[in-house]
Amino acid sequence: MVRETVKQVPHELMRKIEREEITFPREFIDIITRNGVVGLRFPEKYGGKATSWVAEMAAVEEMGYLGFTLSCMYSLGSIVGEPIARFGSEAQKEKYLKGITSGQRYGAEAITEPSGGSDLFGMMKTRAVKKGNKFILNGQKRFIVGGKGADFFVTYAITDPDAKSRTRGISAFIVDRDTPGLKVETIYGLMGNKGGGTARIVYKDAEIPEENLIGELNGGYDVFNRMMVPERLTTSAGALGVSMAALEVATSYATRREAFGSKLIKHEGINFKLAESLTLLHSASSLVYSASRAADLLEEGKVSLAYVRKLVSMAKLHSTESMWKIVNDALQMMGGIGYTTVYPVERLLRDSRLGLIWTGSSEVMKMIIQHEFLKEFTSEDYWKTKRDVEKDALDFRLEEEKVFK
Ligand SMILES: Cc1cc2nc3c(=O)[nH]c(=O)nc-3n(C[C@H](O)[C@H](O)[C@H](O)COP(=O)(O)OP(=O)(O)OC[C@H]3O[C@@H](n4cnc5c(N)ncnc54)[C@H](O)[C@@H]3O)c2cc1C
Repeated sequence: MVRETVKQVPHELMRKIEREEITFPREFIDIITRNGVVGLRFPEKYGGKATSWVAEMAAVEEMGYLGFTLSCMYSLGSIVGEPIARFGSEAQKEKYLKGITSGQRYGAEAITEPSGGSDLFGMMKTRAVKKGNKFILNGQKRFIVGGKGADFFVTYAITDPDAKSRTRGISAFIVDRDTPGLKVETIYGLMGNKGGGTARIVYKDAEIPEENLIGELNGGYDVFNRMMVPERLTTSAGALGVSMAALEVATSYATRREAFGSKLIKHEGINFKLAESLTLLHSASSLVYSASRAADLLEEGKVSLAYVRKLVSMAKLHSTESMWKIVNDALQMMGGIGYTTVYPVERLLRDSRLGLIWTGSSEVMKMIIQHEFLKEFTSEDYWKTKRDVEKDALDFRLEEEKVFK
């Protein structure tokens, strides 16, 4: 179903996006909602299909064939829907979650601030102050995909500046586009991923009705942590599709183009690239789907969020770094023509580069992976059933040689 939907996206739409004639592709949103593939994981009651995470990520992988802008625009339904489905009130689910799945309300996420993306909570400046039955929001958000065309934003703001820990003084909100005091200030010129209407948004005394608070007041950190599961999983899954799309174009070219008396694909320098790329892609795919499976197990209460966070971060790190290498090698397989706009591989390469930066950079993923592992490693449980391998050393008894300071 999703593959069929992906085929329905007009090639001319892709070209218009690339020529920057379209900065927010409503037509694409119409296609995915018309085909009933938005918000697949959400309950049927709210217009979803109650699928597993694994199934939803398979859908995102297919969307990756359209490049990162459209797979991201597709994924935003899952990302923005997550906090509403999990923490939102019934009224929010009726209005916004159903809005997402029916295509009537397109949601985007306004999280990153000019002062910092990686150290988001440490550097956050946006404030929300309660006044009567409203919150008054002041601050700005940067690099927001859908900034130009989305109907609402899921955003975060400091609500208790005196909280002992910053993570306990932040709340999540839904902000409607037509909120007085919300202004789109910059539409960014980008290296790739054109067409998403990526913008800076300014809140100046924006009045948010209190019923648009998501979950508990000062409970934004918990909302954020759950939201990061689809945020990073969808980037990981999209990267698989982007990689395979580039590899298929390059393989098709190499099976037709000739050099030194035979088809390119017959030369070991080319077909070994193909073999290595396929292997890398399969390893990325295995990690993406095991992380997706872990997300399903989290729903069943069988694993912890910390475990899922670690796997999702590994998936995001590995699949985006692999994509960057695979697409670059695909371009190399094609020689000069791969560098031109005659084929789409140069665009996929420019799209790919963002994968290593957004939704948490590679460095941030490494921070999370080692942090979560060391937390497990230093817990008592970790060692309970393990063999003490250190004792296999011939001279393990020489304690005076084990100097640590
Ligand atoms: C096109 C585009 C679309 C985006 N879409 C959205 C969106 O829709 N919504 C949204 O909220 N955000 C969005 N983002 C923001 C994106 O998630 C951030 O750019 C990203 O998280 C990095 O934050 P930053 O740019 O502030 O870099 P910084 O946090 O300033 O980091 C700069 C560099 O330093 C590295 N670094 C930082 N801290 C450490 C450390 N402790 N150790 C090692 N290295 C470190 C980072 O990895 C990075 O390489 C988008 C960004 C772009 C470019």
